[in-house]
Amino acid sequence: MPFFHIFYDEKLTFAAIQNVLMEVFKEIFPLKSYLKEGRKSGMSIGLVPTMGALHQGHLALIDESLKEADLTVATIFVNPTQFNNADDLEKYPRTLEADLKMLEQRGCHAVFVPSVEQMYPNLPELQFNFGKLESVMEGAFRPGHFNGVGVVVSKLFNIVQPDYAYFGQKDLQQYMIVNRLVDDLSFGLQLRRVPIYREDDGLAMSSRNRRLSEDGKKQALALYKSLQLAETMLKAGDSPADVQVAVEKLFDSHEVKIEYIEIVGLDTLEPVKNISDAGTVAVCVAGYVEDVRLIDNVIIKLDF
Ligand code: AMP
Repeated sequence: MPFFHIFYDEKLTFAAIQNVLMEVFKEIFPLKSYLKEGRKSGMSIGLVPTMGALHQGHLALIDESLKEADLTVATIFVNPTQFNNADDLEKYPRTLEADLKMLEQRGCHAVFVPSVEQMYPNLPELQFNFGKLESVMEGAFRPGHFNGVGVVVSKLFNIVQPDYAYFGQKDLQQYMIVNRLVDDLSFGLQLRRVPIYREDDGLAMSSRNRRLSEDGKKQALALYKSLQLAETMLKAGDSPADVQVAVEKLFDSHEVKIEYIEIVGLDTLEPVKNISDAGTVAVCVAGYVEDVRLIDNVIIKLDF
């Protein structure tokens, strides 16, 4: 995996760390000793894993942890093994210095910013199979993605051993998979799902939005609009098939290359055909704007 190495610049990381007072760890063992001290004095630990290029959505997760846990640990690691596209990995925004300042100002207690070598002394042989949960949507369109997520999240859980871990609804399928991972491997932590934080116009905040032009951001609003349309139609009793057709039509007039729009049961993520007994559903959408892949979703309680 040598090409991963170019993305971690030791000098830049060192310079960014010098500018903050918050505890910043690049290595596992000093982080573990720090957390051990916290635990000894009875503190609970909240973990917020991120890939950096932080925005208000990430800070909403930090805020939840600060409210609930005594010690909040964020991680910033652009995990190469969850990228199925080398170009996406290379272009993923990296803004470490600004990220550390944001976290410090928010009151985050500690940050873990490991190198790829620190996280992967060897490329893992371990393979996860999340069954049906990964056979749809992100799992179907990004082969290997959830295996990479499963491995890195398990590593972070083992390193930090948090009492609470915070994940965003923005990546709903990821949340469901991590939920399953926590149960299947008995990680013994409370998982929290934090609602999607949006721009004033409705665009879901995302690190990848930084790669969009102003016009691209306007085009990307079609994703949110499609979810609003789907919500109105489903609540009015329209069938998922009709909703899909209407949404695809909406995208015809925008510069968005839609990859999927799925209406799925919230508990199983299996496509819903008949809404009369569906309960709570999620409408999930993915598409490309200016070659940047974006996702969004909405959870809808249907009681007919
Ligand atoms: P990322 O850095 O994109 O891997 O995201 C780190 C965590 O932040 C994940 O649990 C995401 O679901 C969550 N997240 C990303 N964007 C948002 C958002 N707009 N609102 C709430 N959570 C988010």
